Amino acid sequence: MKKILILHTGGTIAMAEAADGGVLPGEQNPLNAAHFDLAEADLTVENIFNIPSEHITPSHMLRLHDRLVGADQEFDGVVITHGTDTLEETSFFLDATLGLTIPVVMTGAMRSSNELGADGLYNFQTALRVALDEQSRQRGVLVVMNDEIHAARFVTKTHTTNVATFASPIAGPVGIVTKKKILYLYDLPAEKTYPVQSVAYNIPVIKAYAGMDGRLLKLLAETGINGIVIEALGAGNLGEDAARGVQALLAAAIPVVIVSRSLNGIAEPVYDYLGGGVQLEKDGAIFATVVNGQKARLKLLIGLDNQLSQAALTNFLHEF
Ligand code: ASP
Repeated sequence: MKKILILHTGGTIAMAEAADGGVLPGEQNPLNAAHFDLAEADLTVENIFNIPSEHITPSHMLRLHDRLVGADQEFDGVVITHGTDTLEETSFFLDATLGLTIPVVMTGAMRSSNELGADGLYNFQTALRVALDEQSRQRGVLVVMNDEIHAARFVTKTHTTNVATFASPIAGPVGIVTKKKILYLYDLPAEKTYPVQSVAYNIPVIKAYAGMDGRLLKLLAETGINGIVIEALGAGNLGEDAARGVQALLAAAIPVVIVSRSLNGIAEPVYDYLGGGVQLEKDGAIFATVVNGQKARLKLLIGLDNQLSQAALTNFLHEF
């Protein structure tokens, strides 16, 4: 019999629709009443939080992390239920910091527990099936929704309300779940994980746009932030004045990480003029590979907490 740890954190999967149509959490998480006919599983359930995922902060992620350190000594797998709005961030944080060999599977729902076509119980059961499957070991943190399995490294929420919201634009799902089978489609490249002690870092994420000037960046350079992530244009480029803002940040010894605001592809230095990626990198900005802005922010946070040198931080942000 496999021992599975279930950590409920809240989110739509734990909410219900009220008479006026508003969706909100209740006193009890409806998932606690769920019963599955899984003879091969011994489930330990902990309601670690019951909050919407917009209220999840890195401190909550750290609490989940601390609960899971060493969980592979006691359990054969973990399922975490979570709101979908920040699920990709929590999954990425745990993936980058834990390095557990047992399956760690996160899931959520787009429709609350009493809505027509509610997807929560189904996703929860699918996540349990994935966590119970031997093939799910050593794959890092997985996100299971709508019969697809995504790697925390690649997954992102792509639709505001559709049940097929989670996608991995660069890589595609790492696996699919059918009525009878769990099929993995590819293996992930090995990744480096780092421990984490503290998450008390101020790292804003700023999105670039046509006509963006450097004012906000220059102001931020004077506020004592620990780092910044810029979702730059295309392959990782900025307008001229914004590039001067980056120079001000770097002059204040604030790490600047560049990702792309595009949904697909990776940021890399291509253009060699003021604001072009080549010059941003020459000035000292670090390009992050594969990750989007919200994940790059967590990577920078983890790198800073490990006091990585500039070279090690650059490597960490380059690898995926
Ligand atoms: N607002 C909800 C949350 O993230 C959305 C969801 O769970 O689907 O908590």
